[in-house]
Amino acid sequence: PTQLGQLPPARRFQALGTSFYCATPTTPMANANVVAWNAPLAATLGLSAQKEQVHLADYLVGNQTPQDTTPIASVYAGHQFGINAGQLGDGRAVITAELTDPQQRVWEVQLKGAGPTPYSRRGDGRAVLRSTIREYLCCEAMHGLGIPTTRALGIGGSPQSIWRETRETAAVLTRLAPTFVRFGHFEHQYYRNNIEALQQLADWTLQYHYPECQAAAQPYLAMFAQIIEKTAHTIAQWQAVGFCHGVMNSDNMSILGLTLDYGPFGFLDGFNPGHICNHSDDTGRYAYQQQPQIGLWNLHCLGQALLPLIAKTDLLAALSQYQAQFETAFAEQLRQKLGLTLWHEEDWTLVTDLFELLQGAQTDWTYFWRTLSHWMAQQNDAPLHDLILDRTGFAAWLTRYRTRLALDPQSNLARSRAMLNCNPKFILRNHLAEIAIRQAEDQGDMSEIERLRACLAQPFDEQIENEHYAHLPPDWASTLSVSCSS
Ligand code: AMP
Ligand code: MG
Ligand code: MG
Repeated sequence: PTQLGQLPPARRFQALGTSFYCATPTTPMANANVVAWNAPLAATLGLSAQKEQVHLADYLVGNQTPQDTTPIASVYAGHQFGINAGQLGDGRAVITAELTDPQQRVWEVQLKGAGPTPYSRRGDGRAVLRSTIREYLCCEAMHGLGIPTTRALGIGGSPQSIWRETRETAAVLTRLAPTFVRFGHFEHQYYRNNIEALQQLADWTLQYHYPECQAAAQPYLAMFAQIIEKTAHTIAQWQAVGFCHGVMNSDNMSILGLTLDYGPFGFLDGFNPGHICNHSDDTGRYAYQQQPQIGLWNLHCLGQALLPLIAKTDLLAALSQYQAQFETAFAEQLRQKLGLTLWHEEDWTLVTDLFELLQGAQTDWTYFWRTLSHWMAQQNDAPLHDLILDRTGFAAWLTRYRTRLALDPQSNLARSRAMLNCNPKFILRNHLAEIAIRQAEDQGDMSEIERLRACLAQPFDEQIENEHYAHLPPDWASTLSVSCSS
């Protein structure tokens, strides 16, 4: 096993050269402490650090860096809320190391909140404890749900305070991804008219992240097609669990289709397709039901940046696949959620009619699907009927569903088991994160973070002892508001 402090520098990313990053020392924080340490992930990665280990806190806040190497902050651009924002970059993130896990997978190790970088603009380069806890928990919740995401290894804290709307505690998140390269990294080189660097980045991405595309007749096009498909798949999974990202700017879009940059995200409670989770999103650009088409919009930004490398007709042909790929992936999710073996085209009407009933009663999205999964075994309708206002409408829907199920070969029991494995019991509801945050901030008690993380890592298990984490949001949760300020 490797110690955190012994990890080598991020050689892969550094090999890109200085058109892509600046060497950026971290800024020390006094009295560092360990806020969270994801021991199961560390074990998977072959890391030997223990929570009690000396200096772990110093590594987690960036007071020490692996092998004393100077970290790097990468430069990118992006479209924010539909507008080309010009040069952005890692304003509060630095890559500190590269980790090769026991399966020989290579990860970039990043600290978020370890101090200003050349790309901080007016920001302080810091992150608040509140938002690092939210990102830490959500990365791991998404991973537990089987959704592609960056991972979270730990949080380092310090009594140091920083200024947002009010005074808040600072903290630093350690997160990992095979790469943190975003659509915006390509956009940056394109808008700088640095075509050589653009091509270099495309070659780098091909080599390390899409090696199977290298043998294609048109490798860049094959890679772009893969990125489109991955993006469509990930967003279909978001829609299925009711995840709203909140800031789907092209600089927050991973080249690997990972869920990236957790800020004002939220999971649906009551089903409302127009739900806006980001308090700063006045027009609802990033509302739940907009996410699939925003994914395509962002892919167009990436396509634009690839114009020097791929013929426009080919780019457009690849992009034209997105809608069908998304629908296929979403239908696949719905097929599983409904417990069907095969998807029939007519099943879309079953689904849209169900959505209308759920919307009419603002039925809790997660709770409904979980209840339906249990219902499948016994077919006692009462618990389901309690969830939908329009009883006659819902009874009619259930009759149609039963008729549809009769065409499906599986037994109800087998179906119920399969449904319980794809309709989660536990999601990271805002109020659950808030309870962990308040205990950490007000009482300095960090234990709730790990309890909650461990529960969310197994979201399909019944976990009777964790029943309280599956409860519907309490009344006070409706006053919670999350914005871009983090
Ligand atoms: P986000 O909306 O979190 O994706 O951030 C957009 C851009 O602002 C990115 O380039 C971030 O690095 C930068 N940024 C956000 N917060 C800060 C901060 N506190 N200090 C410096 N840069 C920041
Ligand atoms: Mg971002
Ligand atoms: Mg962010």
